[in-house]
Amino acid sequence: MRNRTLHPALPGPGLKFLLLVGLLSLPMSACWESPSGPAAAPPGRVLIIAVDGATFRVIGPMMKSGQLPNFQALAQQGASGAIRSHQPLLSPRVWTSVATGKAPPNHGIENWIQKDGTGGVRLYTSLDRKGHALWNIVSESKEDVGVVNWLMTHPPEKIQGVMISDFAFPSISERRLDLAQSFGEKMVGVTDVAVRRPEDFEAGVVYPASWATRFSSWLDEPAPLTRIKNPFEAESLQESEETQEYLAQVFRNDVLSARAALAIEEELRPSLLMVYLPGIDRVSHFIWAGQEPRSIYPESMRLSLEEHRRQHQALRDYYAHVDELIGLLSENYGPNDLVIVLSDHGFEAGGQPDSQNPLPGIHESDRALNGIFFARGRGVPAGYRVKASEISVNDITPTVLAWRSLPIARNMQGKPVDFIQTKPLRFRPSYDGSPIERVKEEKPATEKEILEQLKSLGYVSETCDPDDTTMACGGPALEEAP
Ligand SMILES: [Zn+2]
Repeated sequence: MRNRTLHPALPGPGLKFLLLVGLLSLPMSACWESPSGPAAAPPGRVLIIAVDGATFRVIGPMMKSGQLPNFQALAQQGASGAIRSHQPLLSPRVWTSVATGKAPPNHGIENWIQKDGTGGVRLYTSLDRKGHALWNIVSESKEDVGVVNWLMTHPPEKIQGVMISDFAFPSISERRLDLAQSFGEKMVGVTDVAVRRPEDFEAGVVYPASWATRFSSWLDEPAPLTRIKNPFEAESLQESEETQEYLAQVFRNDVLSARAALAIEEELRPSLLMVYLPGIDRVSHFIWAGQEPRSIYPESMRLSLEEHRRQHQALRDYYAHVDELIGLLSENYGPNDLVIVLSDHGFEAGGQPDSQNPLPGIHESDRALNGIFFARGRGVPAGYRVKASEISVNDITPTVLAWRSLPIARNMQGKPVDFIQTKPLRFRPSYDGSPIERVKEEKPATEKEILEQLKSLGYVSETCDPDDTTMACGGPALEEAP
C-alpha cells in the first residue's frame, strides 16, 4: 500500500463542509473552551518544541553570526546548553524518554522495529508504550493538550485536546515500513524481513476526527510560514531525484507540523503543546558532509567545492527556517509560561556509503550523544548556561510536572533539573494505572461522533436520525458514507 491517505479518519466531503461552516461561524471561545474555563490554568502554559537531530555544531556558529535570532533570544532570556541523550541514539526511544521521564526499558519503545517472535519484524507503535506520557498526565488533570507529530503516537490517543499522530504526515507510514525493512535485514535472528503491520496500522491518524478534516485541508496549502524557501525545491542537491523529492517533502512536513500546532494554539490555548519537527535530522542524514571540512573524506569521495558550498548553505537555511518556526510557535508564550526547545542527539560524519547517499551524516557514537536544550519562562534564570551533564532527556517530563506543581512519579528515571525554580516537589508512585484509549478503525462510529458534535453545537437538529440524509440532517454527504 503505497499511497496511504487520511481517509480512514475522515468524514465525507459534504459533512466536512457542514462541519467547517459550523466551526467557522462559532465564536472560538464557545467552541473549544475547556469545561472549567480559562481561569483554571493559572500556573502558566508549557510549549515543547522537539527538533530532531539539531546540534550546537551548526547552531553555535550561526548564533554567533546573528543568523538564528529566536535561538539567540531563548539563550538570552533563559537557559541553554547541551542535553545528554542515551545510547543507542535511536529517535523513537529518546523522544519517548522525553515524553515519559523514563528510560527505554521502562517505557517500552526501544527502537523503530521489534522482532515479532516468528522470525519476522514489526513496527513499534503507541500501543507498545508502557504507561503514561506527559500528555496523558496533563489531560487527566482536565486541562487541554495539543500533540503534533510526536514520534510513536500512532494510533493517536484520546486526550483532552488534539493529537495529530506522526502517521498523519504524507508518506510517513510508507517510509516507516521501508525503514523497518532495511533495519530488519540487518537484525540478527530475523529470517523473514517482510514487515508485519501492527494492530491498528489503519486506524485514524488524528484525534478528534474533526481535526482530521482541518489537517487534510492544509496538506496542499501553498503559503509558506517563513521567509526561507524550500532548499530542495530550489536547486539540485542530490543526485537521486527520489531523494531530492523526499527531502523537499520533509521540509513541507515540518511546515505542516508547525501549521497544525499554530491552529491548536489559536483555538485551544492548551496548557501543554508538544510539537515535533523531524526535518533537521532527516536532511542532515543526506547533506551533513557540507558541514564537515572536505579534507576529512578520502579525495575520491569528496564533494566538489560547489557541492560542498550548496549543501553547507542548504542545511544552514534549514536551521534558519526552524528558527523562524520557533519564533512563530512561541510568540504567544509570555514570561509566566515555559518554552522548551530541545533535540535528541547531535550529528557526525560517517556510515556506510550507499547508492542513494555516498556521504551520509549519522548519529551513532558518543560524539553525537549531546542534543541541544533551551528553556525560557517563569523560574528559568536569564542567560543561564547549562553545565555538562546537568540535564538528560529523561528529565524533561519530571521538570515540566514540577514546574506545573504536579507530582512526579517515583517510577520515572528522570528528575526535575535544579536550575529551573519550582514549588516544593510532590511525589506519587506512578501515573500508569488508568487506561489509555486510542483511535481505532471505526469509520462509521467516527462520523456518528462528528454528527453528535454538530448536534451539541446546534448545527444539526437534535431530532435527526444518523441515517437521515436530508440537507437539514447533514446533507447529501451522508449518502457517500458507508
Ligand atoms: Zn536520524
